[in-house]
Amino acid sequence: MSLEPVVELVGVRKEYPGGVAALAGVDLTIRRGELTAIAGPSGSGKSTLLHIIGSLDRPSGGSVRIAGHDVAGLRDRELSALRAQHLGFVFQSFHLAPGLSALDNVADGLLYSGLPPRARRRRAAEVLDQVGLADRMTHRPHELSGGQKQRTAIARAIVGDPVLLLADEPTGALDTASGDTVMALLHDLNAQGATIAVITHDTEIAASLPRRVRLRDGLIVSDTARTAAV
Ligand code: ADP
Repeated sequence: MSLEPVVELVGVRKEYPGGVAALAGVDLTIRRGELTAIAGPSGSGKSTLLHIIGSLDRPSGGSVRIAGHDVAGLRDRELSALRAQHLGFVFQSFHLAPGLSALDNVADGLLYSGLPPRARRRRAAEVLDQVGLADRMTHRPHELSGGQKQRTAIARAIVGDPVLLLADEPTGALDTASGDTVMALLHDLNAQGATIAVITHDTEIAASLPRRVRLRDGLIVSDTARTAAV
């Protein structure tokens, strides 16, 4: 039984001005419940792919469906709404608001949810508890370790229950032990049902994930899901 696709890319190309083909025809389906590494060396097109899956940018050609929506048919405002409602982002450098507590940073992940502030904070507290930071809710980012900052950022990314969590080099700024904790958290969240794509140039991290998609020169050169299907 195949679960419903949350990302469907067919023949996706992206050319930048100057003729660089950052993506040269990518077919990729990510289904609900998957935990996927998108790996490849620097310059292989990972960031470009992240931007397209994250509906931060549009392709030069091919089709992109995210959470069942064809992005070509959406205006920029609708694309932003799709992003806010259905996707969660985690970045290497955390991107937390420096003046806000962990609780308010996470509650901000619900700004576009329509929930009133009190409900946003209540839900944020639940998710901080889930990521193991129940005792750090009032701390501001500078009072948290790198690993705690990234767990806060993950809590913010999942608080709105996105169909897909996109993590861009989530352990890139962390020491090995904190990085391992963050990866363990991503595994836990996946075991609880979250669909997650981790963009990484780190072959060890890629090897630790159940599905591995490898990019080179803007093309998928291997995909363990595709190999398994043959
Ligand atoms: P990765 O994330 O794997 O390092 P990128 O997606 O950043 O790869 O880059 C893929 C290719 O596209 C590279 O050759 C890069 O130089 C080029 N590229 C990326 N962004 C731009 C841009 N904004 N303008 C021109 N070329 C770009």
